[in-house]
Amino acid sequence: MEYKGIKVIRKPSFCRFIPGLSYTAQAISPYIFVTDEVYESLCSEDPNPRFIAVLEHEKKHIERQKELGVFNFGIKYLFSLEFRFQEELLATKGGMKHMKETKLSWDIERSAKSFSSWLYLWMVPYERAKRELEKVWEEIK
Ligand SMILES: [Zn+2]
Repeated sequence: MEYKGIKVIRKPSFCRFIPGLSYTAQAISPYIFVTDEVYESLCSEDPNPRFIAVLEHEKKHIERQKELGVFNFGIKYLFSLEFRFQEELLATKGGMKHMKETKLSWDIERSAKSFSSWLYLWMVPYERAKRELEKVWEEIK
């Protein structure tokens, strides 16, 4: 399927056994990879708005990868905690925007927990993640 001109692809089933890759979605420009659950919901008549927010999140990553070059982005993302955190905040803002437009809430504590976990290689302490995420949520009109 396609979302706003971006090709959305199901992850191969072996990904579910690899920690990190079993997570809902990843973006590698020009593609977004999603799990079966996300893919099926998106193709359904009544897609889960949280999964649309996931696509908006990944779309931001793709825009930034195009700006900086996928390789350059990848290296920085891998080796700089602060870069990774800023990119995730930016992408999360994209997802949050969708939720706010749809008059839905955002579980900031859940995001902050995930940002400070192994999933993002402990890129930021929980308290800072929570504070910055709250700021981003407030910034969205
Ligand atoms: Zn992300």
